Amino acid sequence: MQEKSISTANLEQCLKCNLCTLVCPMLAVNEQYPGPKKAGPDGERYRIKDPEYYDYALKYCLNCKRCEVACPSGVKIGDMIQTARIKYGSQSKIRGLHGLRDWTLASTDFVGGMTASPIAPVANAVLKTGVAKAVLHGTLGVDRHRTFPAYSSEKFENWFRKEALEAQAGFEKKVSFFHGCYANYNYPQLGKDFVKVVNAAGYGVELLEREKCCGIALMSNGFAAKAAKQGRINLESIRKAAGPVLTVSSSCTHMMREEYPEVLGLPNEDVKDRIMLLSRWLYPRLESGEVKLNFRKDFHMKVAYHTSCHMQRMGWQEFTLGILRKIPGLELTVLEPYCCGISGTFGFKKENYGYSQKIGELLFSEIREAKAKAGDSAPFVVATECETCKWQIEMSTGITVMNPVSIIAQALDSE
Ligand code: SF4
Ligand code: SF4
Repeated sequence: MQEKSISTANLEQCLKCNLCTLVCPMLAVNEQYPGPKKAGPDGERYRIKDPEYYDYALKYCLNCKRCEVACPSGVKIGDMIQTARIKYGSQSKIRGLHGLRDWTLASTDFVGGMTASPIAPVANAVLKTGVAKAVLHGTLGVDRHRTFPAYSSEKFENWFRKEALEAQAGFEKKVSFFHGCYANYNYPQLGKDFVKVVNAAGYGVELLEREKCCGIALMSNGFAAKAAKQGRINLESIRKAAGPVLTVSSSCTHMMREEYPEVLGLPNEDVKDRIMLLSRWLYPRLESGEVKLNFRKDFHMKVAYHTSCHMQRMGWQEFTLGILRKIPGLELTVLEPYCCGISGTFGFKKENYGYSQKIGELLFSEIREAKAKAGDSAPFVVATECETCKWQIEMSTGITVMNPVSIIAQALDSE
């Protein structure tokens, strides 16, 4: 399909109502940030005339898309800001060790491919030490307060081929699985839980012919060309897959559905509707009776659901909540959809760490209160589809965060 040049989107639709300004989490904590209206449609009018008007404070945009959710006129404010960052705030502005840091944080396939191996326990242990954190803080500018997600000794893809592939042949109906980097390199149990749930629903699982990182971290860190290259590979593989291509991460899903065409110029209309989170696919099938899941009678868990920013932008949280509500013994609280503040790799950078934590404080307080109210008659966890929200919430509150797919898998009656 013909690739589009990235455009200035729909700035003329702006009604100047300022609703986007009221919801921007970055504007609330950072007076250097111009806010969505000024950074988006207002700024775009100037940038079109002269790129010199580009404001480097746009680097503070979290790409959370809360402005787009609030906009009554459908202005793609977040996309417009991302596009401007790619067009005018080019990678050439990133120099020295911070450039190396940004490349390292963004190159999830490269770093994950090397680390998710038998060296993982050593790498994990080293990254936990105060010395390593101090060195990373002082040299690359990765904030010393951050905890790093642990790497797995075995990639999910390897486990799948060795342990699960053969059994999938027994299923007549199949779905494809875009597992994402987190499940592949850091937490293969999430991929295993996906396979368990899909198999329990009566479907087999296939991996894509070739999967690359969706590219969201590359795009956010100024490596748009590389993100687009990976996007082309993913779309090509998705085109070859028959049927739905299911995911477990809200950010990867949003990236492939919305940002591939709007920000990277990669057309996806022919496959977009087939790319969806597991819950978006599963819930309607449970409701229609096409799929039946048997849940354990002895399952007890108190779950506070956090709607990640990209989940909120897609408007799919009700599919996940609908499934969680079907699990006997699961007590559900739905948290206010505050931003957690990490925004992928943004909050890992020492110059952003303070903003990241300030933004997240509303959510962290709400979670602490929910846990205090929940008591200890059953395990309390936070559920969310975004792995970076998980890292941020766990680091900031000490409370366990699970992907809803893993909760569903744990609640299944395997007998
Ligand atoms: S995407 Fe988020 S951080 Fe960026 S302007 Fe919109 S609301 Fe603000
Ligand atoms: S919410 Fe939409 S219409 Fe209102 S100022 Fe922001 S971009 Fe313009």
